[in-house]
Amino acid sequence: MAHVVILGAGLGGMPAAYELRALLDRKHAVTVINEQEYFQFVPSIPWLAVGWRKREGVTFPAGPSLEKHGISFIAGRVERIDAAANRLHVQGDRQVDYDYLVITTGVRCAFEDVPGLGPQDGHTQWIGSVDDAEKAHADVQKLIANPGPVIVGGVQGASCFGPAYEYVAILDTALRRHRVRDRVPITFVTAEPYIGHLGIGGVGDSKGMMEHEFRHRHIKWITNARIRKIEAGKLFAEEVDRFGQPLQDHELPFAHAMLVPSFRGVAPVAAVDGLVNPKALVIVDEHQRSPKYPNIYAAGACIALPPVDPTPVPTGPPKTGYMIESMVSAVVANIHAELEGRAPQAKATWNAFCIADFGDTGAVFIAQPQMPPRNVTWSKQGKWAHWAKIAFEKYFMYKMRRGGTEPIFEKWVLHILGLARLKPQQTGGQTGK
Ligand SMILES: Cc1cc2nc3c(=O)[nH]c(=O)nc-3n(C[C@H](O)[C@H](O)[C@H](O)COP(=O)(O)OP(=O)(O)OC[C@H]3O[C@@H](n4cnc5c(N)ncnc54)[C@H](O)[C@@H]3O)c2cc1C
Repeated sequence: MAHVVILGAGLGGMPAAYELRALLDRKHAVTVINEQEYFQFVPSIPWLAVGWRKREGVTFPAGPSLEKHGISFIAGRVERIDAAANRLHVQGDRQVDYDYLVITTGVRCAFEDVPGLGPQDGHTQWIGSVDDAEKAHADVQKLIANPGPVIVGGVQGASCFGPAYEYVAILDTALRRHRVRDRVPITFVTAEPYIGHLGIGGVGDSKGMMEHEFRHRHIKWITNARIRKIEAGKLFAEEVDRFGQPLQDHELPFAHAMLVPSFRGVAPVAAVDGLVNPKALVIVDEHQRSPKYPNIYAAGACIALPPVDPTPVPTGPPKTGYMIESMVSAVVANIHAELEGRAPQAKATWNAFCIADFGDTGAVFIAQPQMPPRNVTWSKQGKWAHWAKIAFEKYFMYKMRRGGTEPIFEKWVLHILGLARLKPQQTGGQTGK
């Protein structure tokens, strides 16, 4: 019997647990360890900041759902990974031994990269966790009471620009509904070389689409921006040209600011010798496995990806939800293969399928694969995409609470969209799991 431990019950960890439990023989044990007792649906968290969701709407206790399926759950922070001994040290002096470890810890925000960045010791808000988004909501309420300039965007080294685009449009919608938008000038400040680049050279005409959206919403923008520092109510940025040479300095006042930081791996992952790159993100081979520790797999935001294109100000590629599901399916298939005495062969497709909400409208992006050059690039905008995002939230929360793996109709919809999770040649002719 083997013990498979999944570290992190987020967008990657929860499906990994359910899929492993469904596929592995019952003689093998599956355990999930997560810092919090609850699962949080990260894609909906920006809505908390504008008061469109409450904490209860985007979280649920992870333990009961997992345990119902015979998956053990430990709520606690893993403080150390002893990869040589196959052992995890969990807060409160608890030790957990594993045969296979699946790292799905997501990332930590490197607010320390820019003086004054972030909600802990700085002056900007963050919308990546329910705790931070609740603080952002308090700040938005102050903004509505006392309207003033807003800055939204992503700093140098950021890789997850999507939430910044969603947030600026959602906030614009919310401020219009409160009838204060006419007193709130909004500027989007980003390290990207152009609007809609998204760290991956754009998807379809995302440049045209997002510039149109910003013009329509009276949102100004500054691209190729390197943020020097942030003081209370003031942001200092340097704009560079396409060769990275200084073009213009900006001093922008703000009453409310939300900037996506650069990401790093979480502390216990960062501390494992030979597991991670300089940003503490997990290095994996084409089968999602650590080259140094073959019984450690990783999926999700925590893995290392090379930058797509060098940009004048550094940016990185995002790891989006469907791409994460694709990595998870490869991890599950490979651990299953190993436990049956076969070599790991499954490879993720890294296809991306994203729904972005803009408050009163939205956009859908399909990129196969996510990294260019691609076989399929498609993006479309409309009110229907806003409703699609809400429907997807309800569906995913239901699926995670109930503990389902990919049901037949989901497979069917994804098949119509031409999306598969695993590369066909690695699954003996099957497309997807
Ligand atoms: C605000 C925001 C919105 C996004 N919206 C979208 C979207 O609409 N569509 C899309 O495709 N992608 C979106 N993404 C990108 C991506 O899908 C998410 O970041 C996703 O949550 C990443 O999943 P994950 O499992 O890697 O990490 P997470 O979902 O962050 O889960 C990691 C889990 O590991 C736990 N953990 C970390 N360290 C430890 C430790 N030491 N011990 C125990 N537990 C630990 C954490 O507590 C957490 O529960 C968004 C990202 C952000 C930040």
